[in-house]
Amino acid sequence: MNDDKTTPSDFIRDIVAEDLKAGKHRDIVTRFPPEPNGYLHIGHAKALCLDFGVAEENNGVCHLRFDDTNPEKESTEYVEAIKEDIRWLGFDWGDHLYFAADYFEKMYEYAVKLISDGKAYICSLTPEEFKECRGVPTRPGNPSPWRDRPAEENLDLFKRMRAGEFEDGSYVLRAKIDMASPNLHMRDPALYRIKRAHHYRTEDKWCIYPTYDFAHCIEDSIEGITHSLCSQEFEVHRPLYDWILKELEVYQSRQIEFARLNITYTVLSKRKLVRLVEEGHVNGWDDPRLPTLSGLRRRGFTPSAIREFINRVGLTKVESLTDIALLDHCIREELNKTAPRVMGVLDPLKLVIDNYPEDQVEEVEAINNPEDASAGSRKLPFSKELYIEKDDFREEAPRKFYRLKPGQEVRLRYGYFVTCTEVVKDEGTGEIIEVHCTYDPETKGGDSPDGRKVRGTIHWVSAAHALDAEIRLYERLFTEERPDDLPEGQDFTSCLNPDSLSVISAKVEPGLASATLGSRFQFERKGYFSIDPVASSAGGPVFNRIVPLRDSWSKIQKKG
Ligand code: ATP
Ligand code: MG
Repeated sequence: MNDDKTTPSDFIRDIVAEDLKAGKHRDIVTRFPPEPNGYLHIGHAKALCLDFGVAEENNGVCHLRFDDTNPEKESTEYVEAIKEDIRWLGFDWGDHLYFAADYFEKMYEYAVKLISDGKAYICSLTPEEFKECRGVPTRPGNPSPWRDRPAEENLDLFKRMRAGEFEDGSYVLRAKIDMASPNLHMRDPALYRIKRAHHYRTEDKWCIYPTYDFAHCIEDSIEGITHSLCSQEFEVHRPLYDWILKELEVYQSRQIEFARLNITYTVLSKRKLVRLVEEGHVNGWDDPRLPTLSGLRRRGFTPSAIREFINRVGLTKVESLTDIALLDHCIREELNKTAPRVMGVLDPLKLVIDNYPEDQVEEVEAINNPEDASAGSRKLPFSKELYIEKDDFREEAPRKFYRLKPGQEVRLRYGYFVTCTEVVKDEGTGEIIEVHCTYDPETKGGDSPDGRKVRGTIHWVSAAHALDAEIRLYERLFTEERPDDLPEGQDFTSCLNPDSLSVISAKVEPGLASATLGSRFQFERKGYFSIDPVASSAGGPVFNRIVPLRDSWSKIQKKG
């Protein structure tokens, strides 16, 4: 159906295409309806890519609508953060910014209409009695004793609910549908509740608030949403969605559900993310370990890598668990093409070249990106004292250890061949503090003059020129693959990874002093890093490791 390889095809896009072909709609209108009770996470990116994507592909529009009908946990901070994240991902709602709270008056009128038509009633059961009466799917529920309250009485009570005459929870407006329905959502569900809560937009104007089920379909209908795309858990709510719009005799939007995104070693529920932030398990919503869009952005992920990830996950109705390695793979694949290579030594060990002239400094030429000839090259200072990685040297090494060991020659990337001659240790601790070597002046640039083979190539920085940098290494936030699925009684926070963050002091090549906030690099042999936009503004550069170089996803694919 869809020949263009860059836009995916899936069951939802197929439905939209059929509806257009059948002339059901002139223009496609979708919406993304976040509740402003937390920051967006990568699960929301799936919904965003779909809602905005379907609209874009069909020259339609996608509304950004804050579904703010549940006052307690909502705030303007969240509204602003959500807008920023959506723009960052590359989506634009134009003039179509809406707030469900702006429809409260209209919703109230609709509720009055249902009551007048005998389709809704005021119920005086307590929440416990309500639940009891509703029953279980296999047996019909019991009708509320208030089910046949006359319309006038219902109207009067509803008006007085709004006027604030009654206690919270003392009355509920319920739809009058079918207490025997096998779908519990159709057993006279609640439409309005009394709740004295301050709303961040309507303030204290209202003391009754509509339920999600009543509000959402009305919001969609008012805005003329043609396809209301939501996650699978709303499938059982769909009959109620359709019922309300039909009884109100208003524009009938169509709800279509798709499977939520789930990812290994993390949680994607705002309720849980809020806890991680509020209980201080992480440092704020933009902590680079979180799957929030602001966290991923701060860590150095790009919008395009996230969109590519969502593309690859695909769209189905079947719940599944996506390996977090796929997300890492997507950013690696992109940065391999675009990120300049630099040298950074994460765990420095001093290397002294004994036969190198004392005060000499040379420049050696280093290629910026072997994947991209247009990226050119840069000059690196080379001198007598360098830093190399501690684990690139071993005093006692097996035969197949091709990096530096006593008597062995290695290539210093873009520099010279060096041969290890001596190890200097701390007399007290026995720790290796310096390694000495000699270099072959004929090997400048790392080329062998006589075809002599050197198996190992290691990276380095010149000690006198290197820049000190703080580096933050991140590991998975949880030690369990499914933190949502722990044995009964175990809270998801019990499997937080205590080693998810380590901070180290590194030595990096001097040119990085002028790197701009947010820019990304490949530290040769070490991974992809970005300059932390928040921490770095204070002092020297702070780098976040986005991902290490090793790609477990490719391995998984090869095995499979
Ligand atoms: P959470 O469970 O994280 O609290 P939510 O569904 O309550 O999420 P909303 O702000 O109501 O959060 O979500 C806005 C939209 O994003 C909804 O259409 C919802 O279906 C969708 N969405 C939320 N989480 C996911 C996910 N993991 N995968 C796909 N879509 C999601
Ligand atoms: Mg929700």
